[in-house]
Amino acid sequence: MDIKILPVNETKQPVKDESHLVFGKEFTNRMFIMEFDRDKGWHSPRIQQYGPFSLDPAALVLHYAQEIFEGLKAFRRPDGSIALFRPRDNFERFNLSAERMCMPQLDVDFCLRSLNELLKLEQDWVPHTEGTSLYIRPTMIATEPVLGVKPADSYLFYIILSPVAAYYKGGLSPVKIWVSDEYARVPSGGTGEAKTGGNYASSLYASTLASEKGYDQVLWLDSVERKYVEEVGSMNICFLYDGKIVTSPLCGSILNGITRRSILTLVDEFGYEIEERALSIDEILDGSENGRLTEAFGTGTAAVVSPVGQFTYKGRNVLLGNGKAGELTMKLYDTLTGIQYGRIEDKHNWVKML
Ligand SMILES: *Cc1c(COP(=O)(O)O)cnc(C)c1O
Repeated sequence: MDIKILPVNETKQPVKDESHLVFGKEFTNRMFIMEFDRDKGWHSPRIQQYGPFSLDPAALVLHYAQEIFEGLKAFRRPDGSIALFRPRDNFERFNLSAERMCMPQLDVDFCLRSLNELLKLEQDWVPHTEGTSLYIRPTMIATEPVLGVKPADSYLFYIILSPVAAYYKGGLSPVKIWVSDEYARVPSGGTGEAKTGGNYASSLYASTLASEKGYDQVLWLDSVERKYVEEVGSMNICFLYDGKIVTSPLCGSILNGITRRSILTLVDEFGYEIEERALSIDEILDGSENGRLTEAFGTGTAAVVSPVGQFTYKGRNVLLGNGKAGELTMKLYDTLTGIQYGRIEDKHNWVKML
Protein backbone atom coordinates (compact mmCIF):
# COMPACT_ATOMS: atom_id res chain seq x y z
CA MET A 1 0.00 0.00 0.00
CA ASP A 2 1.16 3.51 -0.82
CA ILE A 3 0.96 6.09 1.93
CA LYS A 4 -0.54 9.35 0.64
CA ILE A 5 1.01 12.52 1.99
CA LEU A 6 -1.67 15.23 2.10
CA PRO A 7 -0.94 18.95 2.38
CA VAL A 8 -0.81 20.25 5.95
CA ASN A 9 -0.85 23.71 7.55
CA GLU A 10 2.09 24.05 9.91
CA THR A 11 -0.11 25.94 12.34
CA LYS A 12 1.82 24.85 15.42
CA GLN A 13 5.51 25.06 16.24
CA PRO A 14 7.36 22.94 18.82
CA VAL A 15 7.67 24.87 22.12
CA LYS A 16 11.06 26.31 22.96
CA ASP A 17 10.71 25.74 26.70
CA GLU A 18 10.68 21.96 26.87
CA SER A 19 10.46 21.83 30.67
CA HIS A 20 6.80 22.92 30.57
CA LEU A 21 5.50 20.16 28.33
CA VAL A 22 2.52 18.46 29.96
CA PHE A 23 2.04 14.77 29.15
CA GLY A 24 -0.35 14.19 26.27
CA LYS A 25 -1.77 17.72 26.03
CA GLU A 26 -0.06 18.93 22.90
CA PHE A 27 0.04 17.19 19.53
CA THR A 28 2.01 17.70 16.33
CA ASN A 29 0.59 19.01 13.02
CA ARG A 30 0.20 15.62 11.35
CA MET A 31 -1.29 12.20 12.02
CA PHE A 32 -1.28 8.88 10.20
CA ILE A 33 -4.70 7.40 9.53
CA MET A 34 -6.31 4.53 7.56
CA GLU A 35 -9.63 2.71 7.44
CA PHE A 36 -10.76 -0.90 7.48
CA ASP A 37 -13.93 -2.48 6.22
CA ARG A 38 -14.77 -6.13 5.59
CA ASP A 39 -14.85 -5.77 1.78
CA LYS A 40 -11.69 -3.78 1.21
CA GLY A 41 -9.58 -4.67 4.25
CA TRP A 42 -7.22 -1.86 5.34
CA HIS A 43 -7.25 0.98 2.82
CA SER A 44 -6.55 4.69 2.17
CA PRO A 45 -3.45 5.04 4.37
CA ARG A 46 -2.44 8.70 4.57
CA ILE A 47 -0.62 11.31 6.56
CA GLN A 48 -2.85 14.33 7.01
CA GLN A 49 -3.56 17.31 9.23
CA TYR A 50 -3.95 16.40 12.92
CA GLY A 51 -7.48 17.21 13.99
CA PRO A 52 -10.93 15.94 14.93
CA PHE A 53 -12.65 13.40 12.71
CA SER A 54 -16.37 12.78 12.52
CA LEU A 55 -17.89 9.64 13.98
CA ASP A 56 -21.46 8.43 13.82
CA PRO A 57 -23.06 8.72 17.31
CA ALA A 58 -23.87 5.00 17.02
CA ALA A 59 -20.20 4.03 16.33
CA LEU A 60 -19.56 0.82 18.27
CA VAL A 61 -16.51 2.17 20.10
CA LEU A 62 -18.67 4.79 21.82
CA HIS A 63 -21.04 2.19 23.25
CA TYR A 64 -19.18 -1.06 23.84
CA ALA A 65 -15.58 0.18 24.01
CA GLN A 66 -14.05 -1.85 21.20
CA GLU A 67 -10.73 0.02 21.28
CA ILE A 68 -7.02 -0.71 21.62
CA PHE A 69 -3.89 1.40 21.78
CA GLU A 70 -0.12 1.38 22.18
CA GLY A 71 2.45 3.71 23.71
CA LEU A 72 6.09 4.13 22.70
CA LYS A 73 8.63 6.92 22.45
CA ALA A 74 11.09 8.51 20.03
CA PHE A 75 14.28 9.78 21.70
CA ARG A 76 16.54 12.62 20.49
CA ARG A 77 20.20 11.78 20.92
CA PRO A 78 22.97 14.32 21.60
CA ASP A 79 24.13 14.06 17.95
CA GLY A 80 20.61 15.03 16.78
CA SER A 81 19.64 11.55 15.53
CA ILE A 82 16.33 9.94 16.56
CA ALA A 83 15.94 6.49 18.14
CA LEU A 84 12.94 4.23 18.71
CA PHE A 85 12.98 1.53 21.40
CA ARG A 86 11.74 -1.94 20.35
CA PRO A 87 8.95 -0.50 18.12
CA ARG A 88 8.25 -3.89 16.50
CA ASP A 89 7.31 -5.28 19.91
CA ASN A 90 4.64 -2.58 20.29
CA PHE A 91 2.97 -3.40 16.97
CA GLU A 92 3.17 -7.13 17.64
CA ARG A 93 1.45 -6.54 20.98
CA PHE A 94 -1.10 -4.31 19.19
CA ASN A 95 -2.03 -7.34 17.08
CA LEU A 96 -2.43 -9.50 20.21
CA SER A 97 -4.70 -6.84 21.72
CA ALA A 98 -6.62 -6.70 18.40
CA GLU A 99 -7.18 -10.45 18.46
CA ARG A 100 -8.48 -10.37 22.05
CA MET A 101 -10.87 -7.54 21.18
CA CYS A 102 -12.08 -9.16 17.89
CA MET A 103 -10.47 -6.42 15.81
CA PRO A 104 -8.59 -6.85 12.50
CA GLN A 105 -4.86 -7.58 12.35
CA LEU A 106 -2.36 -5.08 10.98
CA ASP A 107 0.77 -5.73 8.96
CA VAL A 108 3.57 -4.98 11.43
CA ASP A 109 6.08 -3.95 8.74
CA PHE A 110 3.54 -1.60 7.20
CA CYS A 111 2.86 -0.02 10.61
CA LEU A 112 6.59 0.49 11.18
CA ARG A 113 6.95 2.08 7.74
CA SER A 114 3.94 4.35 8.36
CA LEU A 115 5.35 5.43 11.72
CA ASN A 116 8.74 6.13 10.13
CA GLU A 117 7.15 8.27 7.40
CA LEU A 118 5.18 10.23 9.97
CA LEU A 119 8.21 10.74 12.21
CA LYS A 120 10.35 11.93 9.31
CA LEU A 121 7.80 14.65 8.55
CA GLU A 122 7.46 15.59 12.24
CA GLN A 123 11.06 15.12 13.38
CA ASP A 124 11.42 18.73 14.55
CA TRP A 125 8.89 17.80 17.25
CA VAL A 126 11.21 15.33 18.99
CA PRO A 127 12.39 17.51 21.90
CA HIS A 128 16.10 18.06 22.56
CA THR A 129 16.49 18.26 26.34
CA GLU A 130 17.88 15.26 28.21
CA GLY A 131 15.05 12.97 29.33
CA THR A 132 12.39 14.37 26.99
CA SER A 133 10.85 12.40 24.13
CA LEU A 134 8.10 12.32 21.52
CA TYR A 135 5.34 10.03 22.76
CA ILE A 136 3.71 7.91 20.04
CA ARG A 137 0.11 6.71 20.40
CA PRO A 138 -1.15 4.16 17.83
CA THR A 139 -4.91 3.59 18.30
CA MET A 140 -7.67 1.48 16.72
CA ILE A 141 -11.40 2.11 17.18
CA ALA A 142 -14.58 0.38 15.98
CA THR A 143 -16.53 2.80 13.77
CA GLU A 144 -19.48 0.79 12.46
CA PRO A 145 -22.73 2.59 13.39
CA VAL A 146 -24.92 -0.11 14.94
CA LEU A 147 -26.21 -0.71 18.46
CA GLY A 148 -26.18 -4.51 18.33
CA VAL A 149 -23.42 -6.01 20.48
CA LYS A 150 -20.96 -7.61 18.05
CA PRO A 151 -17.49 -7.05 16.60
CA ALA A 152 -17.66 -4.09 14.21
CA ASP A 153 -17.31 -4.40 10.43
CA SER A 154 -15.39 -1.11 10.11
CA TYR A 155 -12.44 0.42 11.97
CA LEU A 156 -10.11 3.39 12.06
CA PHE A 157 -6.40 3.07 12.82
CA TYR A 158 -4.38 6.19 13.55
CA ILE A 159 -1.08 7.33 15.07
CA ILE A 160 -0.73 10.64 16.90
CA LEU A 161 2.41 12.23 18.39
CA SER A 162 2.87 14.27 21.55
CA PRO A 163 6.12 15.83 22.87
CA VAL A 164 6.68 15.03 26.55
CA ALA A 165 8.91 16.50 29.25
CA ALA A 166 11.38 14.41 31.26
CA TYR A 167 9.42 12.17 33.65
CA TYR A 168 11.79 12.84 36.53
CA LYS A 169 12.93 16.36 37.28
CA GLY A 170 15.83 16.02 39.66
CA GLY A 171 16.28 12.30 40.38
CA LEU A 172 14.03 9.28 40.75
CA SER A 173 11.53 9.92 43.53
CA PRO A 174 9.87 6.96 45.28
CA VAL A 175 6.07 6.78 45.15
CA LYS A 176 3.46 6.04 47.83
CA ILE A 177 1.31 3.05 46.97
CA TRP A 178 -2.18 2.28 48.14
CA VAL A 179 -2.96 -1.43 47.92
CA SER A 180 -6.53 -1.89 46.71
CA ASP A 181 -8.20 -4.70 48.70
CA GLU A 182 -11.68 -3.92 47.42
CA TYR A 183 -11.35 -3.11 43.71
CA ALA A 184 -9.58 -5.20 41.07
CA ARG A 185 -8.18 -3.83 37.79
CA VAL A 186 -9.51 -6.69 35.67
CA PRO A 187 -11.27 -9.98 36.42
CA SER A 188 -9.58 -13.32 35.95
CA GLY A 189 -10.38 -14.34 32.37
CA GLY A 190 -10.92 -10.69 31.43
CA THR A 191 -9.02 -8.39 29.09
CA GLY A 192 -6.05 -7.64 31.35
CA GLU A 193 -3.49 -8.75 28.79
CA ALA A 194 -4.92 -6.45 26.08
CA LYS A 195 -4.04 -2.76 25.95
CA THR A 196 -7.65 -1.65 25.76
CA GLY A 197 -9.31 1.51 27.06
CA GLY A 198 -11.87 -0.34 29.18
CA ASN A 199 -9.17 -1.59 31.55
CA TYR A 200 -8.26 2.03 32.21
CA ALA A 201 -11.87 3.17 32.63
CA SER A 202 -12.41 0.49 35.27
CA SER A 203 -9.26 1.54 37.15
CA LEU A 204 -10.32 5.17 37.61
CA TYR A 205 -12.50 4.72 40.69
CA ALA A 206 -9.80 3.12 42.83
CA SER A 207 -7.08 5.48 41.60
CA THR A 208 -9.28 8.48 42.40
CA LEU A 209 -9.83 7.19 45.94
CA ALA A 210 -6.08 6.57 46.31
CA SER A 211 -5.26 10.05 45.07
CA GLU A 212 -7.79 11.62 47.47
CA LYS A 213 -6.03 9.81 50.31
CA GLY A 214 -2.69 11.25 49.16
CA TYR A 215 -1.25 8.22 47.35
CA ASP A 216 0.47 8.26 43.96
CA GLN A 217 -0.57 4.86 42.58
CA VAL A 218 -2.77 1.83 43.22
CA LEU A 219 -1.27 -1.62 43.64
CA TRP A 220 -3.64 -4.13 42.04
CA LEU A 221 -4.12 -7.57 43.53
CA ASP A 222 -5.50 -10.61 41.71
CA SER A 223 -9.28 -10.61 41.35
CA VAL A 224 -9.86 -14.13 42.70
CA GLU A 225 -8.08 -14.26 46.06
CA ARG A 226 -7.26 -10.53 46.42
CA LYS A 227 -3.88 -11.65 47.63
CA TYR A 228 -1.31 -11.76 44.84
CA VAL A 229 0.33 -8.72 43.33
CA GLU A 230 -0.44 -8.03 39.66
CA GLU A 231 0.43 -4.47 38.61
CA VAL A 232 0.98 -0.99 39.99
CA GLY A 233 -1.01 1.82 38.34
CA SER A 234 -0.51 1.07 34.67
CA MET A 235 2.93 -0.44 35.16
CA ASN A 236 4.26 -3.93 35.73
CA ILE A 237 5.93 -4.42 39.11
CA CYS A 238 9.25 -5.98 40.08
CA PHE A 239 10.70 -6.81 43.50
CA LEU A 240 14.17 -7.48 44.85
CA TYR A 241 13.32 -10.18 47.38
CA ASP A 242 15.96 -12.28 49.18
CA GLY A 243 18.39 -10.89 46.60
CA LYS A 244 16.35 -12.37 43.72
CA ILE A 245 14.17 -10.61 41.18
CA VAL A 246 10.52 -11.53 41.68
CA THR A 247 7.78 -10.42 39.30
CA SER A 248 4.22 -11.54 38.54
CA PRO A 249 4.00 -14.21 35.83
CA LEU A 250 2.16 -13.41 32.58
CA CYS A 251 -1.01 -15.06 33.82
CA GLY A 252 -3.47 -13.40 31.43
CA SER A 253 -4.54 -10.54 33.68
CA ILE A 254 -1.34 -8.49 33.49
CA LEU A 255 0.02 -6.58 30.53
CA ASN A 256 3.06 -8.09 28.85
CA GLY A 257 5.20 -4.97 29.22
CA ILE A 258 8.11 -4.27 26.89
CA THR A 259 9.93 -2.48 29.71
CA ARG A 260 9.32 -5.52 31.96
CA ARG A 261 10.78 -7.78 29.26
CA SER A 262 13.83 -5.52 28.83
CA ILE A 263 14.41 -5.24 32.60
CA LEU A 264 14.29 -9.04 32.97
CA THR A 265 16.94 -9.40 30.25
CA LEU A 266 19.16 -6.83 31.99
CA VAL A 267 18.88 -8.27 35.51
CA ASP A 268 19.66 -11.71 34.11
CA GLU A 269 22.84 -10.26 32.61
CA PHE A 270 23.64 -8.53 35.91
CA GLY A 271 23.63 -12.04 37.41
CA TYR A 272 20.36 -12.00 39.37
CA GLU A 273 18.19 -15.05 39.72
CA ILE A 274 14.68 -14.38 38.35
CA GLU A 275 11.46 -15.81 39.77
CA GLU A 276 8.28 -15.20 37.79
CA ARG A 277 5.83 -16.18 40.48
CA ALA A 278 2.82 -14.93 42.39
CA LEU A 279 4.03 -12.78 45.28
CA SER A 280 1.49 -12.23 48.07
CA ILE A 281 0.78 -8.91 49.72
CA ASP A 282 1.74 -10.46 53.08
CA GLU A 283 5.19 -11.35 51.75
CA ILE A 284 5.59 -7.75 50.65
CA LEU A 285 4.49 -6.16 53.92
CA ASP A 286 6.45 -8.60 56.11
CA GLY A 287 9.41 -8.49 53.72
CA SER A 288 9.56 -4.67 53.92
CA GLU A 289 9.65 -4.90 57.73
CA ASN A 290 12.06 -7.81 58.13
CA GLY A 291 14.43 -6.68 55.38
CA ARG A 292 13.90 -9.55 52.92
CA LEU A 293 12.31 -7.10 50.48
CA THR A 294 14.88 -4.46 49.64
CA GLU A 295 13.57 -2.80 46.45
CA ALA A 296 10.29 -2.54 44.54
CA PHE A 297 9.69 -0.65 41.30
CA GLY A 298 7.09 -0.28 38.59
CA THR A 299 8.17 -0.63 34.94
CA GLY A 300 6.61 1.02 31.90
CA THR A 301 7.37 3.21 28.89
CA ALA A 302 6.36 6.48 30.60
CA ALA A 303 8.58 6.33 33.72
CA VAL A 304 10.97 3.51 32.64
CA VAL A 305 11.25 2.51 36.31
CA SER A 306 9.35 4.02 39.23
CA PRO A 307 10.69 3.18 42.71
CA VAL A 308 8.19 2.38 45.47
CA GLY A 309 8.82 4.01 48.86
CA GLN A 310 5.69 3.02 50.78
CA PHE A 311 2.87 0.45 50.74
CA THR A 312 -0.40 0.89 52.62
CA TYR A 313 -2.74 -2.09 52.93
CA LYS A 314 -5.84 -2.15 55.16
CA GLY A 315 -4.39 0.63 57.30
CA ARG A 316 -0.97 -1.01 57.67
CA ASN A 317 1.87 1.21 56.46
CA VAL A 318 5.29 -0.08 55.52
CA LEU A 319 8.23 1.94 54.24
CA LEU A 320 10.90 0.82 51.83
CA GLY A 321 14.31 2.30 51.03
CA ASN A 322 14.48 5.34 53.39
CA GLY A 323 12.88 7.67 50.88
CA LYS A 324 15.45 6.93 48.20
CA ALA A 325 15.42 4.83 45.03
CA GLY A 326 17.30 1.53 45.48
CA GLU A 327 20.69 0.82 43.97
CA LEU A 328 19.42 -1.76 41.47
CA THR A 329 16.44 0.45 40.55
CA MET A 330 18.87 3.30 39.75
CA LYS A 331 21.19 1.02 37.80
CA LEU A 332 18.29 -0.27 35.68
CA TYR A 333 17.04 3.25 35.03
CA ASP A 334 20.52 4.41 34.00
CA THR A 335 21.11 1.36 31.80
CA LEU A 336 17.80 1.41 29.96
CA THR A 337 17.77 5.18 29.39
CA GLY A 338 21.47 4.91 28.47
CA ILE A 339 20.59 2.46 25.70
CA GLN A 340 17.69 4.64 24.54
CA TYR A 341 19.69 7.88 24.39
CA GLY A 342 22.82 6.18 23.02
CA ARG A 343 25.13 6.51 26.06
CA ILE A 344 25.37 2.73 26.39
CA GLU A 345 25.97 0.21 23.62
CA ASP A 346 22.78 -1.51 22.42
CA LYS A 347 23.92 -5.14 22.50
CA HIS A 348 20.38 -6.52 22.08
CA ASN A 349 19.46 -4.67 18.89
CA TRP A 350 16.56 -3.00 20.76
CA VAL A 351 17.08 0.43 19.21
CA LYS A 352 15.88 1.36 15.71
CA MET A 353 17.24 4.61 14.33
CA LEU A 354 14.94 6.78 12.24
C1 LIG B 1 1.25 -0.28 28.77
C2 LIG B 1 1.10 -0.94 30.07
C3 LIG B 1 2.20 -1.41 30.82
C4 LIG B 1 3.64 -1.18 30.43
O1 LIG B 1 4.00 -1.68 29.20
P1 LIG B 1 5.32 -1.14 28.47
O2 LIG B 1 5.34 -1.89 27.20
O3 LIG B 1 6.46 -1.44 29.35
O4 LIG B 1 5.13 0.33 28.29
C5 LIG B 1 1.95 -2.10 31.99
N1 LIG B 1 0.70 -2.28 32.45
C6 LIG B 1 -0.38 -1.81 31.77
C7 LIG B 1 -1.74 -2.05 32.32
C8 LIG B 1 -0.21 -1.13 30.57
O5 LIG B 1 -1.29 -0.67 29.92
